[in-house]
Amino acid sequence: MKPFTYDSPADAGTAVRTVAADPSAVFLAGGTNLVDHLKLGVARPGRLVDITHLTSTEITERDGLLSIGAGVRNSDLAADPRIRSRYPVLAESLLAGASGQLRNMATTGGNPLQRTRCAYFQDVTTPCNKREPGSGCSAIGGYTRYHAIFGASEHCVATHPSDLAVALAALDAEVSALGADGARTIPFTELHRLPGDIPERDTVLAHGDLITSIDLPAPPAGEQRYRKVRDRASYAFALVSVAAVLAVEDGTIVDARIAFGGVAHKPWRAWQAEDVLRGAPATDATFRAAAEEELAQARPLPGNEFKVPLLTRTLVSVLRELS
Ligand SMILES: Cc1cc2nc3c(=O)[nH]c(=O)nc-3n(C[C@H](O)[C@H](O)[C@H](O)COP(=O)(O)OP(=O)(O)OC[C@H]3O[C@@H](n4cnc5c(N)ncnc54)[C@H](O)[C@@H]3O)c2cc1C
Ligand code: SF4
Repeated sequence: MKPFTYDSPADAGTAVRTVAADPSAVFLAGGTNLVDHLKLGVARPGRLVDITHLTSTEITERDGLLSIGAGVRNSDLAADPRIRSRYPVLAESLLAGASGQLRNMATTGGNPLQRTRCAYFQDVTTPCNKREPGSGCSAIGGYTRYHAIFGASEHCVATHPSDLAVALAALDAEVSALGADGARTIPFTELHRLPGDIPERDTVLAHGDLITSIDLPAPPAGEQRYRKVRDRASYAFALVSVAAVLAVEDGTIVDARIAFGGVAHKPWRAWQAEDVLRGAPATDATFRAAAEEELAQARPLPGNEFKVPLLTRTLVSVLRELS
């Protein structure tokens, strides 16, 4: 492991200025992803800036929002009665991820910023444009069972791994961030980016931007569900996942919010499927038409064509259950 300096600043502003001024510095939260990457040599920072004592560990209500401090642990978030009763899709997504021990360490800020589980990214002996820009993509022409079917580029076909992020995308959450130029908010659906020709950048955050909280608007009308399909029943990342909110009145769909996981470089908001659903009868035919409309954009790789029918069936099944 490369030697690094450890900083524990007194306040968030100092932490942001320290990281923004030093290209080799990174924030350390629960460490469940970052420390693994230090050990593997995937991340080689010169300075770790500990933020565990700087980000809020509270969930607070203000102006109709539920504001989740970036330091709230995943296990505490999943257990919070307000989350369980008003945003069950969020609690279900958290409980579908990792293990009890990991959720006790993992934070609300760190979970959506964890990096791809692409095996080539984690293996420093192989070329990878995300780890080492310009070196090539070993996944293209390689093993692609877990890779993207939406929005990939010739430079990277990786998927984003967070379950929580998929639920946050469906719930229209907002990210509050503190940067060198002050505070700003980012719609959660715009936090992550597609790889394009700069696959090393996972999000729109600038170096030194600190997530301070993730804010949920008032709960949407309707029923909510998170369903994750994976190779093992626990302790595995999604092959595909669906976060869905569906409101039905007198047999007609009045609102639908859907996001997919395991299929793109970011949580994939299924805007086109939602358009098909709104105002249509809540029937299997509608659900299938919505799935087909969204999946028409899919560009599977030789190793992951199975994700297209799998995601179609998963979405139809979740919508049927919610209607
Ligand atoms: C074996 C294993 C299985 C797992 N399975 C799943 C799973 O099924 N589903 C799932 O979703 N996750 C899974 N995880 C991932 C785990 O949930 C993440 O590692 C964890 O949520 C990351 O949070 P953290 O607080 O530990 O982040 P850290 O590891 O501390 O940080 C991760 C990244 O985020 C940055 N960062 C952290 N906080 C902030 C902030 N507030 N502002 C700006 N930058 C920040 C860090 O600099 C770093 O780059 C698994 C992990 C392991 C090891
Ligand atoms: S898919 Fe992306 S992360 Fe994986 S090897 Fe290619 S460039 Fe690297």
